[in-house]
Amino acid sequence: MKELVIATQNKKKLEEIREILKGLDLKITSLVDYSFAPKIVENGVTFRDNAIKKALKISRFNGKLTLGEDSGLCINALGGKPGVYSARFSGKNKSDALNNQKVLKLLGNLPLSKRRAHYSCAVAIADAGKLIGSVECRCFGRIGFKPRGDYGFGYDPVFIIPKYKKTFAQLGPKIKHKMSHRYLALKKAEKIIAGYLKNKGQCYILKKAAKGGGYG
Ligand code: IMP
Repeated sequence: MKELVIATQNKKKLEEIREILKGLDLKITSLVDYSFAPKIVENGVTFRDNAIKKALKISRFNGKLTLGEDSGLCINALGGKPGVYSARFSGKNKSDALNNQKVLKLLGNLPLSKRRAHYSCAVAIADAGKLIGSVECRCFGRIGFKPRGDYGFGYDPVFIIPKYKKTFAQLGPKIKHKMSHRYLALKKAEKIIAGYLKNKGQCYILKKAAKGGGYG
């Protein structure tokens, strides 16, 4: 069975990616299986830059089909922050809880109508150092006033889906995995991968930018 390496060490993310891509007839591995893989410095200006960097660097290292993913939260009232700094928003001693606290503090008492935000997810696929394609998708919501729910990770306890009036952390994986930024981007990436494996050698560059202006 052909292998697809996911260029991440984030176990929660990997869990989501495995679940969403379970229809692909590929053995899914990750950087947990490649302990000697080179370290990736996520210094891109955009999510897409970082996703491409991860896919190219790791596929060059292992000579295999590799998927790079970069994602984060963009809050309109904060000029698009935390953006590409989502994972390390609270600084050196970062944690999901501290990141959420910082976001809530910065938004203060702003009304819900002014707490618009979106998650963005960029996915890039490369094979043995050659870029096959990249996509980016968004999922829109609002930031709540306090963390709610236990599912998911990162900013899920404060990210409200207006249709349900609940956070992703309250809604759980069944709903999240049908509408999230990661689900939408991976479903497009799945098509790119399937097409590539069918017509190996052809280059699929699918640059479907997300709607609206870009925050990173
Ligand atoms: P990355 O590993 O550099 O891509 O970091 C992405 C960061 O963005 C995570 O650590 C989270 O803080 C945040 N993030 C991305 N996607 C999600 C999600 O689906 N739920 C919650 N937080 C997310």
